[in-house]
Amino acid sequence: MSGNTTFTMIKPDAFAAGNTGSILQKILDNGFKIKALKLTHLRKENAEAFYAVHSERPFFNGLVSFMTSGPIVAAILEKENAVEDFRKLIGSTNPADAADGTIRKLFATSIERNAVHGSDSDENAQIEGNFFFTHFDRH
Ligand code: ATP
Ligand code: MG
Repeated sequence: MSGNTTFTMIKPDAFAAGNTGSILQKILDNGFKIKALKLTHLRKENAEAFYAVHSERPFFNGLVSFMTSGPIVAAILEKENAVEDFRKLIGSTNPADAADGTIRKLFATSIERNAVHGSDSDENAQIEGNFFFTHFDRH
């Protein structure tokens, strides 16, 4: 059975462009509840740890530099079938491939500067939520 929790970040490009409010509203309009929310700024070691799975990829250094370039907003979201439904709402990694109406189609400017993160599994949703909200109580 799929879980009811996912984790998202509004990335530095979207925050800097002033799109935080519009993105949060779109998330709410699509039936997600915000269970935890914070504005923060990743240090290099945080971004490297968060994206460790990509450490051997050619885009890794650029990704870390982008993700540390300004504030981000981190959130834990709740909805039935949260991970899959949220990935659908954000759209493809590359905004050029993202479906109309998706958050990345609306707000991303490149495959790197793609406005939002969304967990790709229930397990990663828990790990990523705990990464930002150490003492978060899910009950
Ligand atoms: P995220 O994990 O941020 O939700 P994703 O799951 O759609 O995105 P991943 O393959 O996990 O995509 O890549 C993580 C992030 O790395 C992407 O969101 C993007 O910011 C960056 N990225 C991925 N592929 C490339 C690429 N080819 N060139 C530049 N940056 C990339
Ligand atoms: Mg990913």
